[in-house]
Amino acid sequence: MNITYIGHSGFLLETDSAYFLFDYYQGEIPSVNKDKPLVVFVSHGHADHYNPAIFELVYQHPSVQFILPKGTQIKKYVLEYEERGTNLSEHLMLVKKNETYEITLSNETNLRITTLKSTDLGVAYLLDYKGKTYYHAGDLNLWLWEGENAEYNENMTRKYFTQLEKLRGKEIDIAFVPLDSRQGKHAFAGMESFLEYTNTKHVFPMHMWEEYHMIADFLEKHPEYQANMMNIERQGQAFLL
Ligand SMILES: [Zn+2]
Repeated sequence: MNITYIGHSGFLLETDSAYFLFDYYQGEIPSVNKDKPLVVFVSHGHADHYNPAIFELVYQHPSVQFILPKGTQIKKYVLEYEERGTNLSEHLMLVKKNETYEITLSNETNLRITTLKSTDLGVAYLLDYKGKTYYHAGDLNLWLWEGENAEYNENMTRKYFTQLEKLRGKEIDIAFVPLDSRQGKHAFAGMESFLEYTNTKHVFPMHMWEEYHMIADFLEKHPEYQANMMNIERQGQAFLL
């Protein structure tokens, strides 16, 4: 398994039989072999998670599939590509929150996609593929803020744990989970609970705004996760697992 950190919450995960691209918004997408299925996931429409430049992949990869939550702006891109003689719609799949979908990729392998409801906008994705489980949180996180009132933070906590409950005890091979320094003293809360609730082999912190010291800071408090947490240092970094 090969994972490339593209930037922010953007990763390319390559398995023996498929590519999964998550939340691309800037940086360089590594080149992909068009004989291997490519599935592109967008967790929600915010600009730091969704860059319509992903649709250009239809010209590099004829069987590419794009998975986006319902309500994400796509109509204008479908029309733009139509003018260029390209039917983007046949590559698109719109998903709802709290649903499970089974799709068959172009190499006849099956992918199960389960969506969770984000505590911000859109969804998180849980994927079951060829005996492995992958998770990309999008902006599903425990967004506690020092400047918010108690009611807001309590409400956020309730919403976060409602989703986390669905992952309780789950064996996850690779997870991508926010670790955002802007939250100050609350910055570790979402990651801590995620790692407590799940049985995650490898976790890639994300949404770090390039403040990679967050990883060392987290591990200083939680050395017990040293073996699980991947040490991201720069955009374009590749990890072989
Ligand atoms: Zn975001």
